[in-house]
Amino acid sequence: MTTPNVRPLAAGNWKMNGSRQFARDLVKGLADQLATTKLAADVLVCPPFPYIETVLSAAGSGLLVGAQDCHAKVSGPHTGDVAAAMLADLGCGYVILGHSERRTDHGESSAIVQAKAAAALAAGLVAIVCVGETEAERDRGETIKIVEKQIVESLPSGATAANLVIAYEPVWAIGTGRTPTNGDVEAVHKAIRGLISQKLADGGLVRILYGGSVKPGNAAELMAIPEVNGALVGGASLKVEDFWAIAAACR
Ligand code: PEP
Repeated sequence: MTTPNVRPLAAGNWKMNGSRQFARDLVKGLADQLATTKLAADVLVCPPFPYIETVLSAAGSGLLVGAQDCHAKVSGPHTGDVAAAMLADLGCGYVILGHSERRTDHGESSAIVQAKAAAALAAGLVAIVCVGETEAERDRGETIKIVEKQIVESLPSGATAANLVIAYEPVWAIGTGRTPTNGDVEAVHKAIRGLISQKLADGGLVRILYGGSVKPGNAAELMAIPEVNGALVGGASLKVEDFWAIAAACR
């Protein structure tokens, strides 16, 4: 549900999927929709690095473009990595950081996420910082404790509602078709809002996204939950109709 004065965000995380032609077609489909229909939400796509330029060329003015990671350093001997300033130079406005797949696949700690978020802010990007509990942590009743710890440890200095988005993504809900109960989502989002309002002067305006198996069929219900200000979408962001339906539900 829209928090007063907070414009929702529908963010698509393509992960390591697609091809150049796929990227062109998907973005053209979204850009065509955006050209004719005004949504209540901002719409963002985050393709793999090699397709960012293709996506930017096809995106038109209405669609926001971001990346799925950046390095914490400005430049230097970091083979295979990409600096935040390079993303800004290309025309990206956003970067996803601390996704659970990066925390797992690349051993990214919250301290690393914080350093990357600081680099993102310094480059003028909006950092989408992902947090979320594992299934074992949830079963132990530790969800809010874990999420709050990740936020405190990942928050860069200089963060504001203009340059920070928080995405709550239960690890066990990502790509599984499972979602928490509405009550559980509400409790976590309210806890995040409380914490971020203590930490930042304008924390009441920070967008807090829900992510984890958001689909056209459950989006409206999830987006109606208090303090849910949009969605971070994986699998369903790879189909124009599905992602568009989710974006339309973000209000
Ligand atoms: C994600 O990767 O951030 C995600 C939420 O994936 P999915 O929507 O496929 O669960």
